[in-house]
Amino acid sequence: MAVAWATMKPGHERRLRAGHLWIYQGNVDEVDGEAAPGDVVDVRSAAGDFLGRGYYNPRSQIAIRLLAREPEEIDYAFFVERIRRARAWRERWMPEATAFRLVYSEGDLLPGLIVDRYEDVLVAQFLTLGMDVRRDMIVQALREVEAPAAIYERSDVPSRRYEGLEERTGLLWGKLPPQPMVMRENGLSFEIDVTTGQKTGYFLDQKENRRSLAPLVSGARVLDVFCHNGTFALHALRYGAQEVVGVDSSAQAVELARRNAELNGFAEAARFVEANAFDFLRELDRTGERFDAVVLDPPAFAKSKAHFESARRGYKEINLRGIKVVEPGGFLVTCSCSHHMPEDEFYRLILEAAADARRALRLVERRGQAKDHPVLAGVPETAYLKCFVFQVL
Ligand code: SAH
Repeated sequence: MAVAWATMKPGHERRLRAGHLWIYQGNVDEVDGEAAPGDVVDVRSAAGDFLGRGYYNPRSQIAIRLLAREPEEIDYAFFVERIRRARAWRERWMPEATAFRLVYSEGDLLPGLIVDRYEDVLVAQFLTLGMDVRRDMIVQALREVEAPAAIYERSDVPSRRYEGLEERTGLLWGKLPPQPMVMRENGLSFEIDVTTGQKTGYFLDQKENRRSLAPLVSGARVLDVFCHNGTFALHALRYGAQEVVGVDSSAQAVELARRNAELNGFAEAARFVEANAFDFLRELDRTGERFDAVVLDPPAFAKSKAHFESARRGYKEINLRGIKVVEPGGFLVTCSCSHHMPEDEFYRLILEAAADARRALRLVERRGQAKDHPVLAGVPETAYLKCFVFQVL
């Protein structure tokens, strides 16, 4: 049962009615009753209509995140049911996968909770107070639905600050296999470290885009820029590339990429370099080295709206340099994982980069994040990954 009512200011329920799950402090007129931070509250419009039920955090700018549109109990059974539904979604779209995002926060109607599955290990992130205070119940529900060998917490996410929470990591349940451990994706093996790797150890959101290399790379020389643990490069080799070069500025990432090349029997054909991608591409341009396909998968340059202009310059620059080193008739796979860089704007800046490089582009595909990162249409923040495949003429 909810312990309190939150009444919204007149007209402020519009976004909720359009499918959003967030209620900002400024949308709330008053909260009746005794609601402690993290408690469940019922939300009603100024006219008194019931709008949903969510958890409350007076310290966060987002005061309430909705968990349900009906007055259902937010209890153990609720979490088991939501996690079961999330599981069923993955089974529908990727029945073969043994590594996938099991719970994607708002996208799975569980705002503030992320759970990744790597073989029989679960890695959880509690992003909000409302989820943090329910940690034990959620761990229990995950055990019931998924029966994993271990559940490890990677709540080392700076945004927890906005919720009044410290970062935390550690084993939540079970026995973690020695790290790094091996996970499988698209028939390849990858060593990952769920305790120290970037994100929860791997970038699961690109799994479908990696497959998009298949028709592009037979016999090709491929350059994987921002390669992390070498995933695009190794997919290219699996799809028949002759030779790949990967570049990343993280020593740990490059080390993992090399080990992954060996693990898959590709050590001969793969070379991984620790370098700044901007400098590396400039050097290739200078020496005239060219590739049949180039993948650009940079980190989020626009972490917030305030960084939009500098991020745009960064994306344009990297795309300009990337386009320059593609052989005529070769392919460019270019990504942006910034929610704050809209798709049409990203497309436009790539065209500008091509014009500066005096090259024409032919669009092959417009792609996004893998289906284990479902986009809840009413919550634009759930859509973040863009990926275009172009031929560079
Ligand atoms: N393509 C990867 C994910 C890339 S994430 C995959 O599919 O798994 C972005 C990567 O860019 C990170 O590994 C980070 O270490 C690296 N990076 C960040 N800034 C960089 C820079 N200036 N030059 C090269 N690599 C950089």
